[in-house]
Amino acid sequence: MILNSPLQQENKGVINTVVCDICGAPGTGTLVSAEDMRKAVFKNGFNPFALGLAGQLHSAFGIDSSAAFEGWKNTIVAQDTSDWNICAKCMSKLRPYLEGKPRPTGVKKATVSANHLVGALAAKEAERKYKRKKRWQFWKK
Ligand SMILES: [Zn+2]
Repeated sequence: MILNSPLQQENKGVINTVVCDICGAPGTGTLVSAEDMRKAVFKNGFNPFALGLAGQLHSAFGIDSSAAFEGWKNTIVAQDTSDWNICAKCMSKLRPYLEGKPRPTGVKKATVSANHLVGALAAKEAERKYKRKKRWQFWKK
């Protein structure tokens, strides 16, 4: 995940640099795959900003809660391919939004692009994939 990836790259395998990818609390929690996170956010509406979990993400994406959520969703959630490290506190809030048990994939390298165009495309793709089709768009595949 993006919040701790620079540290992980410098100190490969050093576990004490790991922080919760949502609130920033140090320590190893539950690993959740990037795909599961995308489903939780794009499909099921998990919003750590509205839940008051994303204290540290606020500073990265802005003070306004909904704007910060959009930025976070469209950059990190839409693009990340690495497992998320979720602390017990955040996991208790996230669990209802997950479909089934968390399934970490073992992917450690974050591939989030800082490019806004890539971000917009990734977000569009995730929206398309997980948003339910509108009833009147039945002809769309
Ligand atoms: Zn947390």
